[in-house]
Formats: sequence, structure tokens, C-alpha cells
Amino acid sequence: MIIGVPKERREAEARVAASPETVRRLVGLGQQVLVERGAGAGSLMSDDAFAQAGAELVDDAAGVFGRADIVLKVQRPTGDEMALLREGQVLVGMLDPYMNREQVAAYAERGVTAFALELLPRTTRAQAMDVLSSQANIAGYRAMVEAMAAFRRVVPMMMTAAGTVTPAKVFVVGAGVAGLQAIATARRMGAVVTATDVRPAAKQEIESLGAKFVGFIPEDAATAGGYARPLTPEEQEKQRQVLADHIRSQDVVVTTAQVPGRTAPRIVTAAMVASMKPGAVILDMAVESGGNVEGSRPGETVETGGVTILGPRNLPARVAPTSSPLYARNLLNFLGLLVKEGATGPTIDTSDDLVAGTLLTQGGRIVHPNFQS
Ligand code: NAD
Repeated sequence: MIIGVPKERREAEARVAASPETVRRLVGLGQQVLVERGAGAGSLMSDDAFAQAGAELVDDAAGVFGRADIVLKVQRPTGDEMALLREGQVLVGMLDPYMNREQVAAYAERGVTAFALELLPRTTRAQAMDVLSSQANIAGYRAMVEAMAAFRRVVPMMMTAAGTVTPAKVFVVGAGVAGLQAIATARRMGAVVTATDVRPAAKQEIESLGAKFVGFIPEDAATAGGYARPLTPEEQEKQRQVLADHIRSQDVVVTTAQVPGRTAPRIVTAAMVASMKPGAVILDMAVESGGNVEGSRPGETVETGGVTILGPRNLPARVAPTSSPLYARNLLNFLGLLVKEGATGPTIDTSDDLVAGTLLTQGGRIVHPNFQS
């Protein structure tokens, strides 16, 4: 079987869908791997390293798409890449299907067998393939680093002969994968950290990282699968009252609240932002799904009343040499579902819940129930 890895072409995407380590493993399993020249450059993986791992280097995307049985991607294909996809070809990546339904239809029209890894059920067996977790963990770390870099004071307490510096107060909203890593990062930097969430289990997780829980957890807050449910308008109001008092005194706020498949909850209001001290920094990680912070804008830095609001896009790509190997290993584990010993083509076993859960299109049809218009 031929597995192809093109260079990512979307703006500011520095990651790559394979690493020399995963290429070596695939070649060891008897597969042929094509890597486009320069595909690993943004992740500090050289063409030589891929070649030494057993990959065949290919000059352009057409050379990869033209021969591969399975194409591995980080982000969904661009228009040019769509034109290169062939009937029967398997495409695996973070295809962002909910925001790109017309592209799902286009995979079907081209006869592509497309897998969207964001749709993996969050079960124990799927953990080793869970790209959202591996990337959100890195994003949570990077979010805190960027928020701290924009903060114009020192973070940890310092006792010096010239006086004592008080530690920065950091508040993290939403303690899921990204939020917990943001908390841990702020703690390592010496901040005094508080955090909030609406799931009962999150309180203990926040405290286990040495941070203090602030806020309120509605009764019956966690729904099936351990995810939060949206708050009712009354609960939202109650949350606002509790948080308004707290946010006023914070130096750095990082927000990560989300309920899967929905617009991000609006938690930090313009009035809360206006109540903060000059020099305070807010980073809205949910900016691309509607934003937790009133006034945040995707990819922009907004200054308002002395407060800086950051809305960074694609944080994992800013630490691609770390995030790519993790993503590549997730993909290698996922390929274990499709690549069976001795088979000459990919095996699509839809009785496997991980295969069925991620399979968007097959045989010219949209097969995923969530996308059959
Ligand atoms: P997650 O589902 O693991 O965590 C989200 C948390 O928010 C959950 O713990 C949930 O209980 C909590 N939450 C939901 N509603 C809430 C509310 N009203 N108040 C307080 N907490 C609430 O998600 P994640 O993987 O940690 O991702 C978090 C956010 O970061 C998402 O919006 C995701 O899209 C975004 N993200 C951004 C980047 C980037 O580069 N900007 C990268 C990765 C993730």
C-alpha cells in the first residue's frame, strides 16, 4: 500500500502529518511512504530524516496525490488539493466537517473515502488516536505562554533586596484538556492560579493541579459522555455574577470553555473586561468557535481600556516541532484500523465504532449520519 504525506498548504500551518518515527514504523510494516519535499520543514524534520526513515521523497503534491492509496493530512485539503484527489483514495485528517459541509459533499462527488479525526468517539480505545486531545494539550500550554508574554509585568513572586514582586493572578475559564494544561503551565511559571468549569469532576481536577476553584457548578451539569451541557439563561446569569467579582482582580485570564458541536459560551462580558486593571491580558482560545470573551477577534489583538485581548488561531502550529510528532503518532495508531497485514488496499471495517464514527464519505456517498443533510 502507498501512504502519501503532502506538505500542508494552509496559511500558518507548520505541522505535518507524519514524522520520521512514524514513517519508519510504516515502512517496517511493509508499506511504501511518499513524503513531499519540504513537508517537515516547519516542524524541524528534514527531508534527509524522512529519507533515512525509508520514505520516498516526491517533488510536489501532484506526485503524492497521484500515487497514494491513503493521503495523510493535518488540515482539510485546499482547492488545489481537492482537484488532485482520486476516486477510491482514502483521505485522513482534521477535516473540520461541521464548518465545511460543502466540502464533505465534494469528497463524496470525487469518490473519496474521507475520515475526519475530530469525530473520533472519546473512548478508551480511541485515546491513542485522539488528535483533539493531543493538540489541545499543546494549545493550552502555548496559550498561557503567549498570554504571559503579552503581560508586561513579572509572573512569579520575587523577593529581592530592592523589594518584593507580588505574583501574577491568573484565571482559567474551562478546565478541559486545554484549560488543565493552561493551569499547569501558569503554576509552573509561579502564578497564583484560579479556575472555573461547570462539570462537577473539573473542580477536583483543578485542585489536583494546585489551583483554586472559583465559580458555581449547576446541579446535573455533566451530560452523557462527561461533557458539559449549555447553561440555562438563569445559570448563565448566576455564573456572570460570581465571575464578575473575581475577574476584576485578575492579571491574566485564559478562556477555553466549549460545549462540543455548539457556539462557544459567552462568559467574559465587555463590562468584566472594562473592570480589569490596565495591563491585564485576556486570551480567548475559543475565539474561532464564537468566542468566550466579548470583543475578541480571530487572529487579532484588541486593546481596550488598557486591557489586551488576544485571539490566536492555530496555536499548535506555533509549536509544530512538538505538536507534529504527537499528531503523527495519533495518525499512525488510527492507520492501524485501516492497514491490515497482507492486504493490498485499505480495509474499511464499518463494524468498528472508531471507523464508522470518523468515516464521512465512501463509494460516492456521504455515509456519516451527521452529514446526510
Ligand atoms: P474540552 O471540551 O476538553 O474543554 C472545554 C471545557 O469547557 C470543558 O471542561 C467544559 O466543561 C467547559 N465548559 C463548557 N461550558 C462552560 C461554561 N459555561 N463555563 C465554564 N466552563 C465551561 O475542550 P478543549 O479541547 O480543552 O478545547 C477548549 C477550547 O480551545 C475549544 O474552544 C477549542 O476549539 C479551543 N482550541 C483552540 C486552539 C487554538 O489554536 N486557538 C487549539 C486547540 C483548542
